[in-house]
Amino acid sequence: MTMNKDFIAGLQERLHSPQKIVIIPHKNPDGDALGSTLAWMHFLRKKNHDALVISPNDYPDFLKWLPGEDQILIYNHNEETVKEKIQNADLIFTLDFNSLGRIDQLNPLVSDAKAEKIMIDHHEEPDHYATLMYSDPRMSSTCEMVYKLIETLDSSAFTPEIASCLYTGIMTDTGSFRFPSTTAETHKAIAHLIKEGADGTAIHQNIYDSSSFNRLKLLGIALSNLNQIPNLPIVYIHLTQRELNSCDYKKGDTEGFVNYGLSLNGVLFSCIMIENENEGKIKMSFRSKGDFSVNDFARNYFDGGGHHNAAGGMSTDSIEKTIIRFKQAVEEIKNQFQ
Ligand code: 5GP
Ligand code: MN
Repeated sequence: MTMNKDFIAGLQERLHSPQKIVIIPHKNPDGDALGSTLAWMHFLRKKNHDALVISPNDYPDFLKWLPGEDQILIYNHNEETVKEKIQNADLIFTLDFNSLGRIDQLNPLVSDAKAEKIMIDHHEEPDHYATLMYSDPRMSSTCEMVYKLIETLDSSAFTPEIASCLYTGIMTDTGSFRFPSTTAETHKAIAHLIKEGADGTAIHQNIYDSSSFNRLKLLGIALSNLNQIPNLPIVYIHLTQRELNSCDYKKGDTEGFVNYGLSLNGVLFSCIMIENENEGKIKMSFRSKGDFSVNDFARNYFDGGGHHNAAGGMSTDSIEKTIIRFKQAVEEIKNQFQ
């Protein structure tokens, strides 16, 4: 359902009087997930609701400046408080994901909560746990959707905090305004957000120019592990736990690495496989250019999903076995590149 009158009317009805509201991004939240949930929190608080963002887990340092970020409740640091807040909520907004599996340990708590669930999301093929849904896979980002919502509900409600949060998520989910999901409307939203106080240069620096020395060394290792599939426009990168440890890996350090594969002339599909010894799995990220759907690829072969050109998945095999399985999967879909 795109943002039609029913969604707006449904939202207005539910927000008519002050409500206790919990807003939840997906696990390992990125700029769009945190930007959209925090912007929505600021807006709802302005409208006199008791709104709170609860994250399934921690997130990278390069997001730890977002306005209001210091008030986020992180589930595994505050289990009892989080349980209570979810149980007592009147409304639960789920943003930037569309399947409760994406919030991991919060899934049973949200499923059992008495609160009505409301989804705002731009991923393909949504599940149907929400009674009110604003789902539009054509949108660049959940932040652009929240922008449209606030613009529709009360365009005088933007503040520099809201503008900075929304700018951040639109910027990160569009690869700095270059993916095909970036439309004239996206740029209009960005122009408006700058007028409302978002500082694009500062946000860019906070997100992209805040790398640690170790992270750049790790990128060096990742690039030296870049492999090509012979005669196909496909590349993959792997990183073992040992390699991560050798650069004192911190959450978020590998963000964006998979895109280097796509920066090669002619390459249309790039994959990165990252070992996580703690969780006993390999986290996989997929990116493509053009017609090849990494959403389908991730769903069919690696228990994942996402968008047409950006998706993720996982494997519980060893890294060696995962590479073999990746090559076998590529063998099955190679005719899409020929
Ligand atoms: P990333 O590769 O940056 O982790 O994720 C790329 C996109 O795919 C994001 O929009 C993310 O929400 C989605 N995604 C990542 N991992 C998974 C997964 O395991 N399952 C599903 N359904 N989507 C994922
Ligand atoms: Mn997103």
